Amino acid sequence: MRKKPKKAAPVRNLSQKNCLEIENVRKYFPIYKGVMRKKIGEVKAIEDITFHLRKGETLGIVGESGCGKTTMARCIMRVYKPEEGKILFDGTDIASFNDRQLKPYRPRIAMIFQDPFSSLDPRQTAGSIVGESLKLSKKYREAERYEERVDELFRIVGLDPALKDRVPHEFSGGQRQRIGIARALSSEPDIIICDEPISALDVSIQAQIINLLEELQAKLGISYLFIAHDLAVVKHISDRILVMYLGRVVEIADCEDLYNHTLHPYTKALLSAVPVADPEVESARERVPIQGEVPSIVNRPRGCPFHDRCSQAMDRCKNEVPKLKEAGNRHEVACFLYEN
Ligand code: SF4
Repeated sequence: MRKKPKKAAPVRNLSQKNCLEIENVRKYFPIYKGVMRKKIGEVKAIEDITFHLRKGETLGIVGESGCGKTTMARCIMRVYKPEEGKILFDGTDIASFNDRQLKPYRPRIAMIFQDPFSSLDPRQTAGSIVGESLKLSKKYREAERYEERVDELFRIVGLDPALKDRVPHEFSGGQRQRIGIARALSSEPDIIICDEPISALDVSIQAQIINLLEELQAKLGISYLFIAHDLAVVKHISDRILVMYLGRVVEIADCEDLYNHTLHPYTKALLSAVPVADPEVESARERVPIQGEVPSIVNRPRGCPFHDRCSQAMDRCKNEVPKLKEAGNRHEVACFLYEN
């Protein structure tokens, strides 16, 4: 049973309207063998993913490498078509839309990456990278309007438009990420998926990028899905946090509630691995043990995906998959310890 919850911490006064609803989304990848490419199995990358994102909200998505965060992001972007489930964007299910049907929706969901230029031509100027999607828009066909908008996007992210003729390697890591953000903003999206956008940056620069994302959200009302591999990174930017393990959602809660009333044994272990700056607090902290390594997603264990590593596992955990259930205070958890 969950301990009696303390009063929930105040949360931002957010719109109650959802801009994105993900319902029971699954994505499997086939495994082929031999010259005849015979299908011998499949990798169940994500299973039964269900959550929502409110307008103007930041939902932090946390989990170790290979837990399915990026597959989920690519399903939402509709780079991948999910096997099952719904992706409701402003109420319209885009999960099985074809390219023509997706066209009006594509600009409304943008993405920023850890290294925004890894897939781009290194000789392309920063201005043309930012302006790429403007060229497709009828609104900016006149050269003058196009240049004005590129300059405006540079200024919005705190860069001098005079830098727009430089190429990516002439910028620092923080400046490159600002260009990545300007590029994402160019299509005027409702949602930005931020895939580990600050992981490769120095701590002081990380803070600047977080501040910039928060300012843009306050000004433009954008919603963020903020993907990271540890809970320390998402704490300062998220309104709510979703924790994934081996392709499944194991816990979702308001940010303060997740840190102060952690429920799932996996989330407890992740949190106890986050170092605390105060050495006294750090040495007095209780460590939550986590056994072994993350199992391969190809050989996903039966039952609760965490049972091989969980110090509180019971017999039923080996055979049954716990469902994500409300445990009070808008806090959802997939664990038999909180069934009642
Ligand atoms: Fe541990 Fe069982 Fe809860 Fe899974 S369902 S986290 S194995 S107690």
